[in-house]
Amino acid sequence: MDRQQEFVLRTIEERDIRFVRLWFTDVLGTLKSVAIAPAELEGAFTEGIGFDGSVIEGFARVYEADMLATPDPSTFQILPWRGENPGTARMFCDISLPDGTPSMADPRHVLQRALAKAGDLGFSFYVHPEIEFFLLKDEPGSGERPVPIDNAGYFDHVPHGTGHDFRRAAITMLESMGISVEFSHHEGAPGQNEIDLRYADALSMADNIMTFRTVVKEVALEQGLYATFMPKPFADHPGSGMHTHVSLFEGDHNAFHEPGAPYQLSKVGRQFIAGILHHGAEITAVTNQWVNSYKRLWGGGEAPAHLTWGHNNRSAMVRVPMYKPNKGNSTRIEVRTLDPACNPYLAFAVILGAGLKGIEEGYELPPETEDDVWSLTEVERKAMGIKDLPSSLNGAIQAMESSDLMAEVLGEHTYEFFLRNKRREWEDYRATVTAFELDRYLRL
Ligand code: GLN
Ligand code: MG
Ligand code: MG
Ligand code: MG
Repeated sequence: MDRQQEFVLRTIEERDIRFVRLWFTDVLGTLKSVAIAPAELEGAFTEGIGFDGSVIEGFARVYEADMLATPDPSTFQILPWRGENPGTARMFCDISLPDGTPSMADPRHVLQRALAKAGDLGFSFYVHPEIEFFLLKDEPGSGERPVPIDNAGYFDHVPHGTGHDFRRAAITMLESMGISVEFSHHEGAPGQNEIDLRYADALSMADNIMTFRTVVKEVALEQGLYATFMPKPFADHPGSGMHTHVSLFEGDHNAFHEPGAPYQLSKVGRQFIAGILHHGAEITAVTNQWVNSYKRLWGGGEAPAHLTWGHNNRSAMVRVPMYKPNKGNSTRIEVRTLDPACNPYLAFAVILGAGLKGIEEGYELPPETEDDVWSLTEVERKAMGIKDLPSSLNGAIQAMESSDLMAEVLGEHTYEFFLRNKRREWEDYRATVTAFELDRYLRL
């Protein structure tokens, strides 16, 4: 056993931890958890804990169902909402096959491979997400309209607001689990909140986002509320995005930073954006993976709809934030498509993969789009060479189907499963007769 593993075992003794939850994530980004007794932990570290992979979304075919979860001791944290006596802790796991090879279906492994590739090129990858979500009064029953907890808007200070109490409790809990919060505020829509996490390496951040979603849901329930990361719960209000600021570092040096260049953005930074835009349609099925995600991307509300970039353009897929005159190591780009219901491991992997492709192939960055692209007509957009993001899950699936890059970044197994699963979702949706149709067409 190594020192980190020993540290975990010692802490479990000292803090009287009776349950250890082993966490991992399925291909669609759902958190999975198995609790083990502390006595089992040494074996879990050395041999892994066996489970049936065939019942986990995307993991295995029935004849190769046996899989192993091995906890990563660097992710050990005590779960504050489970109380002290006795305590509960968790660790994220790496998933492998019985012969010890990593599972190609494990989203954590997909991201680790993408990061290793960046490492071969001399880069490490840092991210900082702005996570938006809605707080509702209750969990709505099937077919019921969700009711937000307030009627406030962007940056509103709500006196005696439930939102404040909620954010304070959630942030305290996140900080106690080692997840630093940078900002939090009320967002543009009723009941909508945003919490921004301090930047971290992409793997830790993907773990943090999985924890974040759990903490937010737990704290909401504790306060008699219901939290949702659904991208667009209300047709007439903005949806929830997860704008993600990304940067590459070479050692201590921010590889996106070049003093004196436009926006202080280096050639590497420009090529990275070019890669994201060039492959933008192909990666969207992963960054925006639900039928509902596309109601946000086409609904205004400061959500992007076009494969463009700009420095002050909120209709663009990529923005270069300008709010610090001397940006230095804080130079970064903001990818605005992602929504908070994505699988963060896969989403970070495909953004990194697309950006690195831009660097490797030396893609040229197209001119930035200054105009508000929303206000242009389709003809004007065409004349300017502006391409649209996929307008539906179906469009995103089609773009992904013809993408060599996506097959390479996700690996054949995850790529195939993901496409199969998403085609089925689209077919289910197509077969549905909606309230919209009944209202409009019943009287024909
Ligand atoms: N909610 C918007 C979106 O869906 C973003 C609003 C903002 O942060 N400016 O992307
Ligand atoms: Mg923000
Ligand atoms: Mg926001
Ligand atoms: Mg933003």
